[in-house]
Amino acid sequence: MNVQATPAQVQNVCDHVRDRGFVPVELPGADRLAIGVLGSNPSSIRDVIVELPGVVDAVPVSKPYKQVTREWHPDATVVDVATARIGDGSFSVIAGPCAVETREQLITTAHAVQQSGAAALRGGAFKPRTSPYSFRGLGGAGLEHLVEARRLTGLPFVTEVLTPSDVDAVAEHADMLQVGTRNAQNFSLLEAVGDSGKPVLLKRGLSNTIEEWLLSAEYIVSRGNPGVVLCERGIRTFEAATRNTLDLSAVPVAKSLSHLPVVVDPSHATGHRHLVPPMALAALAAGADGLLIEVHPDPENALSDGPQSLTFAMFDDLMRHVSRVAEALDRKVATAPSQEAVPSSA
Ligand code: PEP
Ligand code: MN
Repeated sequence: MNVQATPAQVQNVCDHVRDRGFVPVELPGADRLAIGVLGSNPSSIRDVIVELPGVVDAVPVSKPYKQVTREWHPDATVVDVATARIGDGSFSVIAGPCAVETREQLITTAHAVQQSGAAALRGGAFKPRTSPYSFRGLGGAGLEHLVEARRLTGLPFVTEVLTPSDVDAVAEHADMLQVGTRNAQNFSLLEAVGDSGKPVLLKRGLSNTIEEWLLSAEYIVSRGNPGVVLCERGIRTFEAATRNTLDLSAVPVAKSLSHLPVVVDPSHATGHRHLVPPMALAALAAGADGLLIEVHPDPENALSDGPQSLTFAMFDDLMRHVSRVAEALDRKVATAPSQEAVPSSA
C-alpha cells in the first residue's frame, strides 16, 4: 500500500481480496503496510487489485512457500521460548540428553548445562527410533522429569512430539515442540503443532531439499503459528564417515530465503562427539542463531545417541570456545536468567 493509504483503502483492498475467495493478511512494515494474499493462484486477481485506491503495486511471491519468505516478512522473526529469545541476534544454545532416561540423569544434566551457559534444555520423552526394539523414551514420566528440571533450573525445554494425538499432552508442559527429521513431512503433525500455538523446532527432513524444509515450515505458519525455528541436523548423502552430512551452507541459504531463525544440531549431523565442537563453532561462524547439542552424564552408557553425546566437561569447554568466537563476531551468547532461589543439586 501507499505510505499515505487510509484505513478505509486498506479495508477496501481486503474486501476485494476476500470477495474473490482469497485470504488477506495485513503485514505492517516499518513505514508502510502490505497486504498478503493467500490462496491458490492469487496472481489471477492482480490486475483488479493494482487499480484500487492506495495500492502501489501487487508483487507475486516468487517461491512456493509464501509466509516464511523474506518477501512476505523482510525482518527477522524472533521466537520467544519462555526466557529464551531465538533469532534476536544473540546465539542460543539448547543442550541436554538425547532421551530422558531417569530423573537423576536429567536433573544432573540440566544443572550442568545451565552452569555452562545453555539458554534452554532438550530431552526426548517420546523417541522416534529406527528400530522398534530400541529404547523409545519414558513417555509421560519423561515429561514430568522435564517439568521438574525446568522448575529447578529455570531453563525452558524443548521435547519431541511424534504424533498429532500427542500434541495437546506435550504442549501442555513443553515450552517448545520438536518435530524430528523423520516427521518433517508428516503434514498432519505439522498442522497439529501449528494449531497448538507453541513454538516449534522443525528439523530438516533426512533427505529434504531446503525448499521442502521451508514448505514444511509453511504448513506450521499457515495455521497461524509464526513461532518456527528451523534446525539443520545433517542430510543423508553417500558419505559414511559421518552419521549425516552437515549442510552448513543451508544456514545462510535458509536465512536469506526466510525470516525464520535457523539453528544447527551438530550432534545428529556428525554422530561422533569429537566432531561436535568444531562443527558447532563453524555453525556460529556461518551465522546460525543457535545450537542444539546432546549432552549426557555418562555417554558410554546412554540409552540413545551416546557416541555423539558430549560429557559435561566437553560441553563446558565448548561453551568457552563459543563465547570467544561469538565475541570475535560481535555476537552475544544468550544465557538463561540466573535462578538464585534454586538448590544447586536435586
Ligand atoms: C533428536 O533430536 O534426538 C532426534 C531424534 O533428532 P533427529 O530427528 O534430527 O534425528
Ligand atoms: Mn538423539
